[in-house]
Amino acid sequence: MNRSEQLFGRAKKVLPGGVNSPVRFYEPYPFFATSARGSKLTTADHKTYLDYCMGYGAMVLGHGYSSVIEAVRSQLDNGTLFCVPTEREIKLAEMICKVVPCAEMARLLNTGSEATMHAIRLARAFTKRKCVIKFEGGYHGAHDYVLAKAGSGAASMPASEGVLEEASAQTAVVPYNDPAALERAIEKNRDTACVIIEPVLANIGLVLPEKRYLNEVRRITEQNDVVLIFDEVVTGFRLQLGGASEFFGIKPDLAAFAKALGNGLPIAAIAGKREIMSKLAPAGAAYQASTFAGNSVSVAAAIATLETLIEAKNAIYPKIARTCDSIVDGIKDALSAAQLDCTVNSIGSMFQLFFTGEKVKDEASAKKSNAAIFRRLFDELLKRDVFIPPSQFETCFVSYAHSEDDADKTIEAYSEAFRRIKKQ
Ligand code: PMP
Repeated sequence: MNRSEQLFGRAKKVLPGGVNSPVRFYEPYPFFATSARGSKLTTADHKTYLDYCMGYGAMVLGHGYSSVIEAVRSQLDNGTLFCVPTEREIKLAEMICKVVPCAEMARLLNTGSEATMHAIRLARAFTKRKCVIKFEGGYHGAHDYVLAKAGSGAASMPASEGVLEEASAQTAVVPYNDPAALERAIEKNRDTACVIIEPVLANIGLVLPEKRYLNEVRRITEQNDVVLIFDEVVTGFRLQLGGASEFFGIKPDLAAFAKALGNGLPIAAIAGKREIMSKLAPAGAAYQASTFAGNSVSVAAAIATLETLIEAKNAIYPKIARTCDSIVDGIKDALSAAQLDCTVNSIGSMFQLFFTGEKVKDEASAKKSNAAIFRRLFDELLKRDVFIPPSQFETCFVSYAHSEDDADKTIEAYSEAFRRIKKQ
């Protein structure tokens, strides 16, 4: 029995399902990690994998990026949690307001789920309306308002038990890439407070907005006086310094950030228009609070991350996109050589494969992908030292640490995996 199998046996006794987040489990048991550096993860069995999970997108600069680690280290000597204001929190909020197009103010929090939950509450407080519109396959965290037809781990489960029907009843779900469906949903729900959208769906595999779709979403929400929330938990500081908003040139009213903001330390933010943000307590009457919000360690990591991203943005974003493009080009060549039906979606530093001959443009088409072949791909890649997120309904992430050599090895691993899959 190898070490990961042993550890999983132990884990199952004290951790439900043996893990602390459902997507980490896959049959028969997941490998256990011991350390990570750059583009690679090392396991309890002394194997090293090229990592394309990258903290589900959080590690934009790569694991253990030196300036972030140094910032965290030096902060540890000065205290970790003060629960009174610090100048560094202002500095971080100022940096966010400088680079995020919609950000006039920001509130720091800890996780993506918290950010979307409070952004929705804030939109309700601002509009004095109740309903939320989300998109099929869109994932915004594990809280009650947004679990209907959600992506990520929730895509492979029936509706979660424990979520009250009364809570779900206030959430309408419409197909992505279908402006008319959104227009109809708003017409039907005159009590709509907000529309929350992942500008690029990254939790149902990777699904891109069709041309001008996001402009239409902005136009429809604006015309109906509905708050538009961009969930930039994945895309923020990754697709571009100013996130999807900068990439597509569209300004939402509010945006939620997490993941890449701290390059591996837990930190999140809500940012947006001053008149809406001012509704947050204690300035306004929409309550939001957290003991760990703005803790000095996460803030130090986020400042160091943003300093690097701002300083080297002209090097970082083109480089990660180039590495991703060369992996995707190599994968596409290998797919045609192997004559496998597969659609590859990619943008910036993100990509995902769907084993279907059809275009994948929404949840319904994403779910047509052959899950058994995807599972084979995951296993075959792991045998070749490449780790991708274990689920079809996630996205692969390239970081600044991934080199051309990593890309070549990855293409080789995919090519060999496709040959194996084709043989059976
Ligand atoms: N929104 C999106 C788009 C996400 O991808 C995620 C996490 N995968 C979340 C929200 C929730 O973030 P967290 O897990 O930090 O609560």
